[in-house]
Amino acid sequence: MADIIKLLPDHVANQIAAGEVVQRPASVVKELLENAIDAGASTIKLIVKDGGKNLIQVVDNGKGMSPTDARLSFERHATSKIQKAEDLFNLNTKGFRGEALASIGAIAHVELQTKTEGDEVGTQIKMEGSKVISQEVMVTPKGTSMLVKNLFFNIPARRNFLKSNQVELRHITDEFHRVALAHPGIAFHYYNNGSELFNLPAVNYRKRIVQIFGGKTNPKLVPVEEETQVVKITGFVNKPEFAKKSRGEQFFFVNDRFIKSPYLHHAVVAAFEGLIHPNTYPGYFLCLEVDPATIDINIHPTKTEVKFDDEHTLYALLRSTIKHSLGQFSVVPAIDFDQDPNLNTPYSFKDKQAELPKVAVDATFNPFAESPSTSQSVSGGNSGGYSSFSKPSAKGWENLYEGLGDKKESSNTVSSIEFESEVITGSIFKEENEEEESVTTTFQLRRKYIVTTIKSGMVVIDQGRAHQRVLYEKFLKNITIKEAVSQQLLFPLSLSFSNADVAILNEIQGQLTTIGFAFSVLEKDKVEVTGVPLQVAESEVGMILEQLISDYQMEIVGDSFSQTDILSKTLSKTLSVKTGTILDNASQLALVNDLFACKEPGLSPFNKPTYITITENDIDKKFI
Ligand code: ADP
Ligand code: MG
Repeated sequence: MADIIKLLPDHVANQIAAGEVVQRPASVVKELLENAIDAGASTIKLIVKDGGKNLIQVVDNGKGMSPTDARLSFERHATSKIQKAEDLFNLNTKGFRGEALASIGAIAHVELQTKTEGDEVGTQIKMEGSKVISQEVMVTPKGTSMLVKNLFFNIPARRNFLKSNQVELRHITDEFHRVALAHPGIAFHYYNNGSELFNLPAVNYRKRIVQIFGGKTNPKLVPVEEETQVVKITGFVNKPEFAKKSRGEQFFFVNDRFIKSPYLHHAVVAAFEGLIHPNTYPGYFLCLEVDPATIDINIHPTKTEVKFDDEHTLYALLRSTIKHSLGQFSVVPAIDFDQDPNLNTPYSFKDKQAELPKVAVDATFNPFAESPSTSQSVSGGNSGGYSSFSKPSAKGWENLYEGLGDKKESSNTVSSIEFESEVITGSIFKEENEEEESVTTTFQLRRKYIVTTIKSGMVVIDQGRAHQRVLYEKFLKNITIKEAVSQQLLFPLSLSFSNADVAILNEIQGQLTTIGFAFSVLEKDKVEVTGVPLQVAESEVGMILEQLISDYQMEIVGDSFSQTDILSKTLSKTLSVKTGTILDNASQLALVNDLFACKEPGLSPFNKPTYITITENDIDKKFI
């Protein structure tokens, strides 16, 4: 048989390699920024157009390349960063594979201009699909400029696979954040379609975080610092009260390289245990410095995963260091007997202790406590039926146990249903006397559920989820038919956000307006709100916009339907009544009616059941 194995031509090999290195414009941005940092630049400029699809340029003032190096830099496995295998275990640079430029040169139009300190003039090289189109002498300042145009011009399938410009831009911005955060000592400029998104002078780490995420971040930060033989930990965690429902603002850097590590993330979350709600995530910006010989960054082509020699020690150190910092900065509640324990109780204990105060509260609101006067006035002493009501006061201390006994009994019979005494009083008597009206009768259970009857039995409605459904459908409708009522604010409300946040608000400004928001300023890091939807209180505006932005960051969305959907979900989530809110009878009724007028009353916008039914049959069975 004839030999059939052939060596792939370079440009094909490069294209294949490019598939690993370059997934989208943001991957190019990452590689170019990292090369600029490796070149020792103190100022780096990033320019993109159309989400990076048509143009990405990185200009640095680093050490530049000689004409020969400039040409060689596009060869595969051409790198100045390692020379022998052992160097792999002592990496102090971002790059080392020598693959990035070869890959980028294979799938885009690239123009390189570069000059070293010692050279009089610089070099310009133009590449197209791995081919050198031209190499010329050029007058250019010291440093390097890489211009990457028409990404994936020769791989239409990959190009078509790219998302909208906005989405690609967001990926680029994420990458930019990571690099800029890891190098606060380097100045960065970032332009998109001719407008400046970020201008970050060289600063310290804390200020860099604030430059990127806005002034509101500063008071949230708790410094973390520890130095041991294994690792040096520096950086910040956000105070527990700022933990968010969604991920985001979680950064690990190992030797100035952004990494993802679910394991170390867990260590941070563990340090916050008991201080934050289990479904929320703390924000953090943590830098670990370790001996390069103790890590292996080789396991992932885009190098965001790192393998540590001694993960367990790192985990333990990280956890205890953060715990210590939280304690030191008095974030952890101290035992203070003058304080209302409910205010400071960490979330994870809240549920456990909730029982105790409940009993105390029930005692004051006990409808029976009022009964002696009621029974006296109503019965005038002739009704023996009420005599049992006076028992508690007569028996003194014994009544302490009475509630508990009752509870046990009720939990045996009607499982865990307990009644909110203050609300139930009215309805119990009403139902006894006026059976006909029971359909329109509701009562609230533990400030969480609304109970009402239907023909076949009863319905227990989760008030929060039900309200979410009602609001969600309302907002969806308002956005689609563009008919929302806006309330004008007397004085415009100025809010500060990061540039990236404002960019997101700009993207969805159209939809925000259709539901009643009005903005007079929406640029750079400034937002001025002049109108809000009818349902929104002025004090909630900042919180709502912040939630919206973080939900958008979580769910990268391209089309306008999903934008509308996210917007409606966020608003319904933030504005709905929460567990713990007392609803008067009229509100309960209105909510029940609104819910069942919805198109999909059975599910919350987040696909959780909004109500359950308990049929007469179910109840009968309990009594067997
Ligand atoms: P790597 O970074 O893994 O070495 P690259 O393909 O990214 O591989 O770059 C190849 C080489 O080109 C680098 O090793 C470096 O010597 C040179 N180079 C790339 N970008 C720059 C730059 N901005 N300034 C100076 N030299 C650069
Ligand atoms: Mg590189």
